[in-house]
Amino acid sequence: MSAMRHAAVNVDVDGLYLYDRIHGHSGGSGNADGFDPATADPTAWTRGVVRFLDLFDRCAVKGTFFVVAQDLAHPDVRAVLAECVRAGHEIGNHSLTHPYNLSRLSDIEIATEVGDARKRLQDATGQAIIGFRAPGYVLSPALLDGIAKTGHVYDSSRFPCPPYQAAKAGIIGLYRVMGRPSGSIPESPTVWLGARRPYVEETPSGRRVLELPIGVLPGVRMPFIGTSLIALGEIGWQLSRPFLAQSRWVNFESHAIDLTDHEGDRIPARLRTQPDQRVPLSRKWPLFVRAVESLARTHEVRTLADWAERT
Ligand SMILES: [Zn+2]
Repeated sequence: MSAMRHAAVNVDVDGLYLYDRIHGHSGGSGNADGFDPATADPTAWTRGVVRFLDLFDRCAVKGTFFVVAQDLAHPDVRAVLAECVRAGHEIGNHSLTHPYNLSRLSDIEIATEVGDARKRLQDATGQAIIGFRAPGYVLSPALLDGIAKTGHVYDSSRFPCPPYQAAKAGIIGLYRVMGRPSGSIPESPTVWLGARRPYVEETPSGRRVLELPIGVLPGVRMPFIGTSLIALGEIGWQLSRPFLAQSRWVNFESHAIDLTDHEGDRIPARLRTQPDQRVPLSRKWPLFVRAVESLARTHEVRTLADWAERT
């Protein structure tokens, strides 16, 4: 019975500099003036990714880490990446510099962000990189085409979750009102109610990409991702469990920062604007252990690349 139910666990490794960018703090605008990935704060890797490695090891699952290729300029990042590869996890492409407006860039810029990143990740890992996740989960026909043209087999960026998308659109509007333009852009409402299970998308040039959508619960379409697990806590987990157990496709997506501790890991105070980022690791860790352990009991957990090859 468990073989019928498929699951994947994966982590977007967004550096702390990206949280500065998304919240519109001055001086943190990504690759603008003075930003150097070789000296950027590697905490998301050295603390967050390292704890996800422990989590996956403890739960005996293989996961996928979606990596922003420019981060490899930092030696500590390269060291942790090597551990991910050694442990048998998949590395996926999360673009070269993580531009939140990637879906709106020119074809040439998209080819660089997606294609050059793939080459760098392949060189660094010795793995074939076949999966892509878009910054901010936002796709466009041109971006989908770029993903296919540069040799990717699957994309995992669709997040068909009305509550999340509505909140995100609202938050972006709020930042605009406050005069702090956010780097993030909202996804088209047609995506909010898209397919929940894997499907094939055709791109404008007639290529095909397998889409592996990010987790929402069946029926209610509540999100099942790291952010929601933290925000809803123990009660949310108990409520999600029965839906989760019967879901035939669970794609549990987290961010590396989800397993950091704002005090112990000295996350800058200016980044604690989202309520989930103020929850201490001592509360988050047991939630993640139980969620992934429980998933491994009810579902067959494989990397997204494994599922892409079997679909
Ligand atoms: Zn990201």
